[in-house]
Amino acid sequence: MTKMMDRVMEQTIDKTKPILVTGASGYIANWIIKYLLEEGCTVHGTVRDLNSEKSVGPLRKIEADAARGKLKLFKADLLDQGSFDEAMQGCEVVIHTASPFLVRGFTDPEQALIKPAVEGTRNVLEAVNRTDSVKRVVLTSSVAAIFGDNADLKKNARGYFTEEDWNFSSSVDHQPYSYSKFLAEKEAWKIHDAQSRWHLVTINPSMVGGPALTQYSQSTSIDTLRSLGNGKLWPGVPRMRLGWVDVRDVARAHVEAAFRPDAEGRHIVSNGEPTMLEVATILKNHFGSKYKFPFFELPKRIVKWFGWVLDSSAKPRFVEQNVGHELKFDNSRSKARLGLQYHPLEQTFVDHFQQLIDDGMIR
Ligand code: NAP
Repeated sequence: MTKMMDRVMEQTIDKTKPILVTGASGYIANWIIKYLLEEGCTVHGTVRDLNSEKSVGPLRKIEADAARGKLKLFKADLLDQGSFDEAMQGCEVVIHTASPFLVRGFTDPEQALIKPAVEGTRNVLEAVNRTDSVKRVVLTSSVAAIFGDNADLKKNARGYFTEEDWNFSSSVDHQPYSYSKFLAEKEAWKIHDAQSRWHLVTINPSMVGGPALTQYSQSTSIDTLRSLGNGKLWPGVPRMRLGWVDVRDVARAHVEAAFRPDAEGRHIVSNGEPTMLEVATILKNHFGSKYKFPFFELPKRIVKWFGWVLDSSAKPRFVEQNVGHELKFDNSRSKARLGLQYHPLEQTFVDHFQQLIDDGMIR
């Protein structure tokens, strides 16, 4: 990352050239592709299965609704070496979003998360090294690459996380998803720093909310908001803060990072750190008592010893290091350098919950 700072930053991107978006069927990627098409761009999107209606159908609808731009789909898997080469031909910008986002439901974190995140990033960036047209890579990293547990903030002299911070507390056994994002971003900077043709810009979102463009989205984001209204977290929730941001702002950040001539470095993209009860209260105030929103905070000792029974990711160490701790991010760089104007979080949660109702995902 240091080498990059020494370079001339201004870099013009030709918007008439195709732009590659990996993991095109994902929750965030769908919105990125929508915005790129609305700008009239040609998008090359990769999916694992070109015959999957759940992946491809919503993308075709996004293309039709945009009524501008052009979307061409390619098959690619993070673990297949060379599988991104064809889709990358002629592209000046590569937006790499593909990576598994799972916090539960797997037995081997190395295979489920770390291998696809790290080897996938390496595969995509090795393809970038082989493709002379590429000038810029925008990587969807995460605040998970910046911090591991909320308790880490106590060791932070500023009292809030910035782009200068790196996750020092996650491992294969503790917060493996966060560890996968930390390792993948480190690997990306390492490969970037070994060459001088292309620039790397990272987008580091907190938990993403807001309406999905498909009811088939598998992102953990969808499950997180749904669990606040489907009774899974009723009647009480842990006193836990999460960083949240609107999916539309995250997508906009990628598009700005792709085209702004001076885009460089890391960007925390996050718009507040409400507690789970605060989120539930916003939803309850808007949607009323028809849904089973939690209405009180559980004592930490109860969550610590019984939380994992309800949620396999809520192991005692996770609870100890995250429940009852403060959390704060500095998002000023995303506003200053990418021009982001964030949606109010209330709108994010309300629009998202309404979409879950409309799509029959909450009853
Ligand atoms: P998502 O809807 O689950 O999308 C993940 C995408 O990754 C899918 O399109 C999937 O492709 C692709 N993928 C997974 N394993 C793959 C593999 N082996 N080969 C090729 N593609 C693979 O999740 P999302 O929320 O949009 O997340 C997108 C990115 O944002 C991820 O890098 C995630 O870490 C990051 N992020 C998400 C959040 C959040 O709260 N959602 C916050 C911070 C960062 P197929 O559909 O083709 O299988």
